[in-house]
Amino acid sequence: MSFCFSSINLWCSKNLVDLEYIVWEIMSSSKENIKYFDDPEEDDVQYVIINTCWFLSSSRDEAEKTIKYYDDLWKKIILTGCYVPVRDDDFLKTLNNLYRVFPIEQSETVSKKIFDFKEKKLQNYIENLERLNDTKKAFIWSWKNTRFPFNSPYGYEFVKISEWCDNRCSFCIIPKIRWNQTSRPIDDIIIEIKNLVNLWVKEIEIISQDTTRYGTDLYGEARLFELLEEIEKIDLDFRYRLFYLYPDILTLNHLKKLKNFKKFIPYFDLPVQHINTKILKRMWRFYDDKHIFALFDFIKYEFKDAFLHTNFIIWFPWEWELEFQDLLDFAKKYEFDSVSMFGYHDEVLASSSKLDKKVNDKIIQKRVDIMWKVLNKIYTKKEKQRKWKEFIGFIHNYDDKKVYVRCEYKAPELDELDKIPIQNIISGNIKIGEKVKYHI
Ligand code: SF4
Repeated sequence: MSFCFSSINLWCSKNLVDLEYIVWEIMSSSKENIKYFDDPEEDDVQYVIINTCWFLSSSRDEAEKTIKYYDDLWKKIILTGCYVPVRDDDFLKTLNNLYRVFPIEQSETVSKKIFDFKEKKLQNYIENLERLNDTKKAFIWSWKNTRFPFNSPYGYEFVKISEWCDNRCSFCIIPKIRWNQTSRPIDDIIIEIKNLVNLWVKEIEIISQDTTRYGTDLYGEARLFELLEEIEKIDLDFRYRLFYLYPDILTLNHLKKLKNFKKFIPYFDLPVQHINTKILKRMWRFYDDKHIFALFDFIKYEFKDAFLHTNFIIWFPWEWELEFQDLLDFAKKYEFDSVSMFGYHDEVLASSSKLDKKVNDKIIQKRVDIMWKVLNKIYTKKEKQRKWKEFIGFIHNYDDKKVYVRCEYKAPELDELDKIPIQNIISGNIKIGEKVKYHI
């Protein structure tokens, strides 16, 4: 019997890394006639792995909508990801084609779960599956596991250096779903990076929930910069980008070290969420506006080509006009190159849901629109300044007239591609994943 399958990753790149390992684990099982398809809607596809998210209620809704969509297409569903520990069993009971369900920490033996499933009734198995339990250590892959590098054709790959989080931000439920931080040993990460770069990957996207705290669980102290020193020693041609540089324990000395790192791409992803110290306290974020100003002032002054990315939560409980004005002024002062933003929304499992002084989503949207206006004005001004300038980037897609290029200082899957006429390519081959020089 053949096993023709495909997969869908919902939301974050950390989820995607898990999926890459899962797909390879299935592909490398002893089972015969296994075939992987990129498009889950292809007729020959019998099984679809759906790797879900549950960070926000909207991502839970998206998970259930996606599951229902493929159930209606009569694809056998293999369900995993963040939805599993918080799943709605009544919803799952309505499905006709739910084939297997497994929590992410059982992924190393996924092919066994799929091919040697002993449980008589799937429903009994699901009902016995563990639910929320934030005392455990998170599961994380190692270089000994092989992955199906979906993105290497585009010249980049995500490398997860630690899983989950020891912070307890009041608006976030991640530590509840996936437990405490687990860091990978430095040498384990170095081996994986070498393996990926030997697969023609030119850019390593370093991800975790809290990159600044990498190693605290394993070494008793943060060891991010020791890890970067080892990455800098790798004698291969590649660069790396850091995501989720949680700002509270980040210092000017750390930033000074980054100046000396040759492979480091000056992309600064500091998810601040807000700038007003009173609001930060209610978010259980332990830094203040002065600390953030000092970090961004240093970055702006020392890294001329710095790309600034951050995150904002709009109208968190107790955010009055003054606090919101602080955030608007902050965005204008540092002219961020890209901001991920969402209006505050009560998540039942989040501590902030117990706060008072909240407003409804419609009113929140008004402030989100005001902030978008400010940000779009900044983006438009910056786009004008890029006109006629030359850049280096990676070809993401092309046709006979135009090329979509990811500028090397922009992040994959987060920042916009440059769409340019084919004659604007100055040097390099027009091929997906190729590094080219071009002008806007
Ligand atoms: S740092 Fe805060 S927001 Fe990020 S995953 Fe941890 S608890 Fe959630």
